[in-house]
Parts: sequence; C-alpha cells; structure tokens
Amino acid sequence: MAKRDFYDVLDVARNASDDDIKKAYRKLAMKYHPDRNQGQPEAEEKFKEVKEAYEMLSDPEKRAAYDQYGHAGVDPNGMGGGGFGGGHPFGDAFGDIFGDIFGGMGGRGGQRGPQVYRGSDLRYTMEISLEDAAKGKATQIRVPSWDNCETCHGSGAEAGSKPETCPTCQGQGQVRMSQGFFSVQQTCPTCHGTGQHNPKPCKPCGGQGKIKSNKTLEVNIPAGIEDGMRIRNAGSGEPGLNGGPAGDLFVEVHIKRHAVFERDGTDLHCTVPLSFATAAIGGEIEVPTLHGGASMNIPEGTQTGQTFRLRGKGMPHVRSASTIGDLYVHVTVEVPVKLTSEQKDLVRQLDESLKKNGDKHSPQSKSWFDKVKEFFN
Ligand SMILES: [Zn+2]
Ligand SMILES: [Zn+2]
Repeated sequence: MAKRDFYDVLDVARNASDDDIKKAYRKLAMKYHPDRNQGQPEAEEKFKEVKEAYEMLSDPEKRAAYDQYGHAGVDPNGMGGGGFGGGHPFGDAFGDIFGDIFGGMGGRGGQRGPQVYRGSDLRYTMEISLEDAAKGKATQIRVPSWDNCETCHGSGAEAGSKPETCPTCQGQGQVRMSQGFFSVQQTCPTCHGTGQHNPKPCKPCGGQGKIKSNKTLEVNIPAGIEDGMRIRNAGSGEPGLNGGPAGDLFVEVHIKRHAVFERDGTDLHCTVPLSFATAAIGGEIEVPTLHGGASMNIPEGTQTGQTFRLRGKGMPHVRSASTIGDLYVHVTVEVPVKLTSEQKDLVRQLDESLKKNGDKHSPQSKSWFDKVKEFFN
C-alpha cells in the first residue's frame, strides 16, 4: 500500500502554517482517537497515519526533508506503509496535545496519565521454493503471542493485593530530572511508564499481567511473490503498554535458489544443452518448465547462445495473477567427447565433406575471417 502524502493526510495546503497544521491535527486526532473508536481498526490506522503526518510536519527539519525528498527523506526504515519502529510511544499525542484536549474536556481530569506505547513489530523470516512462489501457498507458522495471566487476570498483582500508584512518579509514568538549567522528562525507571507499582507481583507472570506463549497464524503467500517481500499481519506483534495497540507481524519471504531456473521479475531463464546433431539438423527437444516438461522445436543450424522464448511459461505477477511472464531457453551446443576411433573417422569424413563447399557451412568463421582480413589490409 502506497503511503499517503502527509499534507493530504492532514488536509492542509503545502504552505500551511505551523498553527494550521496543529489545528488540523487536533481535529483529526480527536476524531480518530482510539479511546473514542474502540474496536475499530480503521480508526486506529487513521489515527496512526494522522499522528505520523503531524510528527513529520510539525518538526521544521523533518518537514523540510519531506518537502524536498518526499517519504524517502523522512522514513527511517524506507519500508513504506506501516513502518513504525519498535516500542514507538504515542508520546506527544497523549502528553502534549491530549493533555490539554482531554484536560479541557475533563476526560482525563486534567491529569497526565501514564504513557501509552504501541507494541513492537515482529519479523518472521520464511524461505520458500520457486515452485511455491509461482503457485502461491497457504501455510501456517508458529509465532509468539501473549495471553492475559489466568492467575491475576491481567492485573499483575498477587491475589489479595492491588496495584498501587507508583511512588516514584505518583502515577504519571514520567519523572522530571534536573540537569543543570534544564529539566528533562523521562519514563519513570520504577514502573517503566505504567504509573503503577505492584507491592506483591503475581508470581506466574512476574507482575506483567501477561504470559508469553505461541499461536498458529495462517499465512497466505500470493502467487508471484518476490524475494524479500513482506506480508503484514496487523496486530500480531508484541502487545502495547497501558492499553496501547499491539504491533504488527511482518512475514518476510525469501525464495530459495532454483537448480534450473533463474528469475528476473516475472521472466524465467534456463540453459539447455543441445546435441551437435540436433543443433545441425533441427528437431524437437524437451525443456523443463515450473509446471513439468514442455516440447520445443529447434530449427536447423541453431548456434550456441541462441535464445528461444516460451510465452506464458514464466512467473505470475504478484499484483495481477493473469499477467504471466515468459521462459527464456538459452541453448548451449555440446561438442561430443570421448569419441571412439570409428566415431572420430566419421567426424573427419563429415568435416572433409563440409570443406568441399568452401565456407558456406560455417557462417561465423566466414565473417570472422573477413574481419581479420580487413584489419590487416
Ligand atoms: Zn499474573
Ligand atoms: Zn512510576
């Protein structure tokens, strides 16, 4: 999915002032905020998109880079579509702007809550054969998952105890540290931003409230997939913190080298040895394709290095299965080896017979000698 233009996302002009950008962002962020759109993944996606656009356009350096180079200028990992780094906090959305929006509306009572973090993305690498890449494949993988702890029902506190407000940050999730003239806000080192503290952490989950296990995930690999492509499973990454959304799982597909075929986009190439006799007098040979053998006519007088195209015997296009590439067969004429003396006699006889007609049987030698003559005269 192509990434949308940040100005389009915020619906502002390219020369919009910082104030206009901030206003547009507030309006959209309110509309798509996860607290107001529970269980609506589209809203969550919109919210992320809006937030990313604001992060870029509200920073003068990033905005300048984006104006000049587009997404390539500001995308930290060049992934396009869905490329948040691991553990990226919703940060200033809740801290700075939502602080005053919700403060003003009374939604959060004017108090800063703990930081909300999106879970990290996970990557799963998978290797498949070229045949599977051509046909597509439905497969299952085992990936980590996190279940609510059954002992504490997700609270992280031992039975009979309750999580308390973190004494270090008084539930803010953040602490102010003074460094000389500056005062810096940091994630609370005691509660790691949750704002809560368990005097008696639940033993089975270590106070996390969640237990890591495994789940089976269905992955549909589309026909025509190319080496290095990623399939995204939204929400199958690590869980978020403090109610933040889960990260995504990316299945990165690699294609094994094939013994016979080399791939070039949707085209395939292979090299087929040709006997001296077939090359000279022509004939039908069997060539391999990804879907079994196919027969191909070799015209008489075929030379080494000649290429024949078999239409529609290549790979399907990953975005349009009806578009299928071609198979290019490169032939190599094989000089016979380990001849018996009788066979050598036959070759000599053939050679004598060919020479009687001058160089008309050797077009390459003829043009080569012509060139050499020109060069020396
Ligand atoms: Zn527990
Ligand atoms: Zn704390």
